Amino acid sequence: MPAYDYQCNNCEHVFEVWQSIDDPDPDCPLCTCPQVTRLISAVAIHTKGDGTAARVEHEIKKRLGQGRATDALRLADKAAKLAGNRKGMGKIKAARDKLRGHLGK
Ligand SMILES: [Zn+2]
Repeated sequence: MPAYDYQCNNCEHVFEVWQSIDDPDPDCPLCTCPQVTRLISAVAIHTKGDGTAARVEHEIKKRLGQGRATDALRLADKAAKLAGNRKGMGKIKAARDKLRGHLGK
């Protein structure tokens, strides 16, 4: 089952939910607001423990977890540029593109 990151439209809390792709969006666990936005699939940046990509993945998720989506995008962008074709970084690039699409940047 994949993990999805959501941000609450009401209190901006970011949280991760394990669910099937067909499941409805969850309610915010903090304020129970049903209006949440799917941020990025954690699965999309699952890098299978490859060193650099895994560290980048961790840092991106940390920022998303803190509600710092713009910071996360900046980091993903920088990593994607530096990474070239290094193993696992294709997923970071894909995640970056999704995040960018989500943020409208
Ligand atoms: Zn909320």
